[in-house]
Amino acid sequence: MTKRLFIKTYGCQMNVYDSARMADLMAPFGYAVAAGPEDADLVILNTCHIREKAAEKTFSELGTIRRYQRAREREGGRMIVAVGGCVAQAEGAEILERAPFVDIVFGPQAYHRLPEMVARAAAEQVLDTSFPAEYLPETFAAPGFSAFLTVQEGCDKFCTFCVVPYTRGAEYSRPAAKIIAEAGQLAAAGAREITLLGQNVNAYHGASPEGGVWGLGELIGALAGIPGIARLRYTTSHPCDVDDALIAAHRDVPALMPFLHLPVQSGSDRVLAAMNRRHTAGQYRRTVERLRRARSDIALSSDFIVGFPGESEADFRATTDLVRDIGYAQAFSFKYSPRPGTPAASAPVQIPEPAKAERLAILQALLHEQQRAFNQSYVGEVLPVLFEKPGRHPGQLVGRSPYLQSVHAEAGAERIGEIVPVTIRAALPNSLAGEIAPRAEHRA
Ligand code: SAM
Ligand code: SF4
Repeated sequence: MTKRLFIKTYGCQMNVYDSARMADLMAPFGYAVAAGPEDADLVILNTCHIREKAAEKTFSELGTIRRYQRAREREGGRMIVAVGGCVAQAEGAEILERAPFVDIVFGPQAYHRLPEMVARAAAEQVLDTSFPAEYLPETFAAPGFSAFLTVQEGCDKFCTFCVVPYTRGAEYSRPAAKIIAEAGQLAAAGAREITLLGQNVNAYHGASPEGGVWGLGELIGALAGIPGIARLRYTTSHPCDVDDALIAAHRDVPALMPFLHLPVQSGSDRVLAAMNRRHTAGQYRRTVERLRRARSDIALSSDFIVGFPGESEADFRATTDLVRDIGYAQAFSFKYSPRPGTPAASAPVQIPEPAKAERLAILQALLHEQQRAFNQSYVGEVLPVLFEKPGRHPGQLVGRSPYLQSVHAEAGAERIGEIVPVTIRAALPNSLAGEIAPRAEHRA
């Protein structure tokens, strides 16, 4: 009999990816994905610890799940409840203590043991927050036309605001041969685009098939040769790990899309040093210049934190100056939120909430204006769009441009999975609208 599995995912692309793999892993055991937790046989909360109140949110969500679990028990059934991801890694024992109805708690690097944990949960509470030395092989279900592939895990950078090195463990790069084999499987299953994932993806330094070590640039060069793979992307990068080979890949590998998420966090050298980012604003600007020389149309995105402890008005102005100088196609910006156990959380000068909110509003207005101008600059142009799924309106499809813009156009469902030239007719706040262009117009 089919059993129902509901996964609620919080946070980053890595978690989205991990959740998809959990569903793949449980499918052979008869679990089909359900739309809601109400009558699921297995409920997994895949949690994120990056911002404030993550643990409280998990406990409040668990309160709701407990009501469904009780209802199931009244009917004589059983609902297994599991908490995975970074909150589980950080607060595992406390979860089992405060929410004793939780059956399984597992860290981000233990999800491949999920079937075994579910089997054990029949008899006992299971806690697995170990960091394995070796990253285990993946299992695959139909990946869709745009697929994710983890190449690197963990982080050794220890930025003073960040929990990732504590929750995701030390940096580990998967051997290139395994990645190439999996990319081949993804392509054979229909993927046209692969996004390489890692908390610090460009710190990749995996064993090469010949026995040496490859960086991300070399890995990208090899993956671009896989038949069927038309597009490659990677996220998230650290500015310090952009090396010559990666810049050369942006110049030489046509499949590598001209879009890069390269978080800078702040434009102030004083704040960057306090964050332990290991680079200055000047070094970041020079990296961007080199990337633009290699690939003139490369579009950039970033993460910013405002109100980091000790950030002065002048420091904040250095951030808005940097944003004006670089010009971003899109970006994410956050108010600094102290994460327990990280060095910045105990810094003496915390910025008051109203100042953080004011700075965030100023920065976001500037970033939104840049995003609007970037999108507007494509009106009248033709962009190759990889259609991924039906749009919100009947007869419409939605896909991505090379610059990661979401593009809507009227097209038949048979074009899903194709890269199609689209003439852009309108720029909306977060997407583009267009119509399919005649072949001759297609330049890219
Ligand atoms: N590894 C990536 C890097 O170094 O840029 C980022 C990983 S983190 C999951 C994503 C973003 O969350 C960070 O770039 C940062 O802007 C934000 N972030 C992390 N910790 C934060 C905190 N304590 N307060 C506010 N934002 C935070
Ligand atoms: Fe966190 Fe810094 Fe590592 Fe990114 S590089 S995951 S921000 S510690």
